[in-house]
Amino acid sequence: MKTNTHLEIDKAILGEVYTSTESMDNLTELCDEYGSRFPGTPGDKGSVDFMVQKLKSYGLENAHYETFKLPGWVRGKAKLSVIEPIEKELECISLPLCLAGTVEAELIYLAEGPVEVYERMKAEIEGKIVLISNRNLPGTRSLHRTEKFYRSVLAGAKGWIYMNQNPGVGPVTGGVSPIIPSLGLGYEEGMFLIRLLKRKGRVKVRIETTDKNMEMTSYNVVADIPGTSGGKEYTLVGAHYEGHDIAQGAVDSGSGAATVIEIARVLNMFRDKIKRRIRFVCFGVEEIGLYGSKAYVEQHIDEMADLRFMINLDSAAEHRRKGISLHGHPELDAVFREFGEEMKTELPQAQRVSPYSDHWPFFLKGVPTGGGGDPGGAGPLAIEFQHSKYDTLDKVDLRSLRDSAAQYSRLILRVTNLDEWPGKHKTKEQVNTFVKAQGFDDTVALIDRTKAYVRKWQVIHPETQAWLDRPEY
Ligand SMILES: [Zn+2]
Repeated sequence: MKTNTHLEIDKAILGEVYTSTESMDNLTELCDEYGSRFPGTPGDKGSVDFMVQKLKSYGLENAHYETFKLPGWVRGKAKLSVIEPIEKELECISLPLCLAGTVEAELIYLAEGPVEVYERMKAEIEGKIVLISNRNLPGTRSLHRTEKFYRSVLAGAKGWIYMNQNPGVGPVTGGVSPIIPSLGLGYEEGMFLIRLLKRKGRVKVRIETTDKNMEMTSYNVVADIPGTSGGKEYTLVGAHYEGHDIAQGAVDSGSGAATVIEIARVLNMFRDKIKRRIRFVCFGVEEIGLYGSKAYVEQHIDEMADLRFMINLDSAAEHRRKGISLHGHPELDAVFREFGEEMKTELPQAQRVSPYSDHWPFFLKGVPTGGGGDPGGAGPLAIEFQHSKYDTLDKVDLRSLRDSAAQYSRLILRVTNLDEWPGKHKTKEQVNTFVKAQGFDDTVALIDRTKAYVRKWQVIHPETQAWLDRPEY
């Protein structure tokens, strides 16, 4: 086995991480002082100033924020009423990017909404309000919320209700598009509707939403450790700092941002041992469309070729093993295995990529990317409150934050210091081939198909029109 050339610095990093509460102190400030940090809330900019100040106080170079525009959204009151055959009001919330509207129609329950159901049941779905679960059936292709949403719209749904499958945590949230009124519902309210459908055969409901879509500004927080080599090549570690507006976004992803900041703090203490520049980024607005990371990649497009590796630490404090998913870069398998052995740590790894977090805009530019977390899936303590209002600070424990900071700071140190880095940038063609092989091109095509379908409507809401006019990438 190779000798550990970073043993002394490993010991110092571990000592620092496990004798400090800085990561939890910062996360507490982010959550309890600034709330969700959702775009358009006062806490967004406040939290950004706080993070920049912290990074400066730790001695990071070039600590600053960058601004970008996004199609933002302001939550309004939402109402869900059963109107036939009984009358009853159910607690609900509108889903981010929902538009204002009222729709009355029969309810249809699509259960988990597997991919084949929308075509097969098109005649039944047409003109109805869809009720659908946020769970996927084991053994079937996992459909992201937005895919279920677009496929429902294409099948002719007039309203959309997304039901939480986790009891006791209220309605589930998650971004959609401003096309039809769309709600998040708690498990218990959903089960009531499902039973009512079974008992009565036919149920009519009314959805009333009052949300507003409008242009907003948000931020990416950026800082550097310059590296001793002076070369252009660098490594990037990032995570989104904002949460959903109904929560503190403590795990998803305040804990990711707090971990990025903690890694910046401890690695900067050993900056004379760091050969190549490390860039730290806390991204704004991941949840409703990756707007922060998309803007970052656009604003730094001429630096993508020099980016050795981008690691995304979304929701870093989840209770799970601290491994790494490499995004279609088998040439990196061996080197990460060696890193794990040298660190004498469990570093489960896999090759797998999803388009639903901040690595994605980097991935599309051919940059070798990876994500922290357990590639074997979430463990038995997986968060069931994700995207509910109970993603609060009390769900995060210091040990998990420390474990993340300890694991990924040592990993990033090795990534940036390795002299012969085997990672290869993909060409545009290679990216396209890869995306196709994974079936993600269907998802992208789905948005185009939905747009083409909606353009034929006789009445188009101005906020829907704005969405139609906006390019996806
Ligand atoms: Zn997240």
